[in-house]
Amino acid sequence: MVRITVVYDNNAYDAALQTAWGFSALVETAAATVLFDTGGDAPTLLSNMAALGIDPHTIDAIALSHIHRDHTGGLAGLLDTGIRPTVYAPAAFPTDFKNTVSARTDMVEVTGPMQIAPGIHVTGEVGTDIVEQALVVETTDGLVVVCGCAHPGVVEMTRRAAESVGTQIALVMGGFHLGQATQAQISRTIDGLNALNVQRVAPSHCTGDPARQAFSAAFGENYVLIGAGAVLDLER
Ligand SMILES: [Zn+2]
Ligand SMILES: [Zn+2]
Repeated sequence: MVRITVVYDNNAYDAALQTAWGFSALVETAAATVLFDTGGDAPTLLSNMAALGIDPHTIDAIALSHIHRDHTGGLAGLLDTGIRPTVYAPAAFPTDFKNTVSARTDMVEVTGPMQIAPGIHVTGEVGTDIVEQALVVETTDGLVVVCGCAHPGVVEMTRRAAESVGTQIALVMGGFHLGQATQAQISRTIDGLNALNVQRVAPSHCTGDPARQAFSAAFGENYVLIGAGAVLDLER
């Protein structure tokens, strides 16, 4: 089994959890527990983990999508709990950020695609302006691509995951960065994901409500509603 839990999101799902601007998801398999992004602040992140019964000490590794505060803001406070997971961050991150993290725990600077735990990969650096990586999880139905903000475009992030790990995409989830997008841009994004044969989508965080509604209409029962506290159990 693979369990993916949204532990931090600005969209509500489980009323017992707090919402705040940002994103973080925990991926648990029999082999490893990986946290993808850390949300915007540690108090919200840690409070949500406690509400979900997640012990931070179970986290083996943390993958950071991109440098923006709403994805990295919870890291320092998370390390303050005493955990020392390996942090996988794009090599393009600012030197002072990398130095601060590597002074506290092992840090791996990621450039290209790499497997960070059995069946769990990162795409490596995508984009030039805001460099970002997605997390890619192997399941029986295909890959789950987890995006932070998808600044380089969610279609491009998914294409890179398909290129580096495998072409069958079961689910794309997380931030699709369409909050300011026009209907035409949203339609092109839906077409782009369909062209990659993406089976299901779970857009959240910076996707925006108009785009979420458009995805819901386009994907029907293959649209998965997520938000803070959503739990996806998948087979692998
Ligand atoms: Zn974001
Ligand atoms: Zn961002």
